[in-house]
Amino acid sequence: MKNNKDFFVMYYSRTNCILCNNLLNHVLFENDLSIPIACYCKSDNNEDVFIPYNIYTCSICKTSQTKYLGDLNIIYKYNHADSTGNIMENLHKKVNTFLCKYIRNITNITEIGSSKGILSSIILNTYNSIEKYYIVEPSFIGKKEDKQIIISEFFENVEYNVYEDSNTIIMSHVFEHFYNPKEIVNVIKNNTNIEYILLVWPDLEYYKDNNIYHVLNTEHTFYIDNNCIKDLFNNNSFEMIEQLKYANHSVIYFFKRNHNLSTINLYNNNHSIKNYFDDLLNKKDDILEFIRLNKTKGKKICIFPASVHTQFLIMLLEINDFDFILDNSPNKIGKYIYGYNLECISFEENCNNDNHAIILNGGCFNDEVIKKINLDKKQCLVLSINKSI
Ligand SMILES: [Zn+2]
Repeated sequence: MKNNKDFFVMYYSRTNCILCNNLLNHVLFENDLSIPIACYCKSDNNEDVFIPYNIYTCSICKTSQTKYLGDLNIIYKYNHADSTGNIMENLHKKVNTFLCKYIRNITNITEIGSSKGILSSIILNTYNSIEKYYIVEPSFIGKKEDKQIIISEFFENVEYNVYEDSNTIIMSHVFEHFYNPKEIVNVIKNNTNIEYILLVWPDLEYYKDNNIYHVLNTEHTFYIDNNCIKDLFNNNSFEMIEQLKYANHSVIYFFKRNHNLSTINLYNNNHSIKNYFDDLLNKKDDILEFIRLNKTKGKKICIFPASVHTQFLIMLLEINDFDFILDNSPNKIGKYIYGYNLECISFEENCNNDNHAIILNGGCFNDEVIKKINLDKKQCLVLSINKSI
């Protein structure tokens, strides 16, 4: 793959493994690829920043991690956690129900990273026993509720006494964003007030094994399998009490502090990241053939959704033949996906237009939208089909 973009000094290179600190030296791609630094949709015409992209896999623990780390101020310039379907809403409800059997042991809660406080509001409205709910979030944009206390800071920088009357940490789709996740677990370990951790983790292992274009990007910079996540917390004095999978989308873990745990050798058994990338690359011909057939018939080529899934597919496969991106989010419609100036139009209004051919690239989000499409079979290509079906 050639790399013809100009790189700014807006990134740095990782040198050591995030899990075992081993010196990293084995890259997946012989030549670096080039990836848009941010994943949001934008309305301006400002120049988009690209940074180099490659993957290191640690020779000892087999953790895969992006070689280049972008400037966080650019990556998270705009919040784009904007899910319009049922999957995230139902996830919050699931987590809320999951908490029920532990709630008697929970004094107060500290949630790390939550731009809108949605999960927090659901929990506070369900469990009256929670008096205080701290949200550690440098850019909170939600509507603050009475019992919520917003700490506008990065978690690593917050003194323990600020949330000392809280014995439970919640992290939902946050932990995978840290450049140094071990440091975060260590901060929690050293705060002896914390007895419980509820972690909601994207099921990266499922994404990897089912060819979903959403495992290693500028936001999710490392891949650790689901068992190794458990072991990482074990080695920081937190024993896993319960684990629950949700909709091929997330894994919910509940940990309890235990000082008598023996250290486990951290190793990713399910680490075949090369096969994952090979499978993704092998789809290129099918996608190009689908596009060619439909373009011959005069169809406009649309791809769903306007998210990192699609951005990553374009980056990796270097396909430039799409006419539109489809999405249901009002905050994305009429804007352009970062890096590729591809316009986002309404999924609902365009999913049954006979002039369109549609590629579904939303992983588990495909299930929600596929039933709305009544186009001829030849006008719809579904990627990331569940292998178990
Ligand atoms: Zn390692």
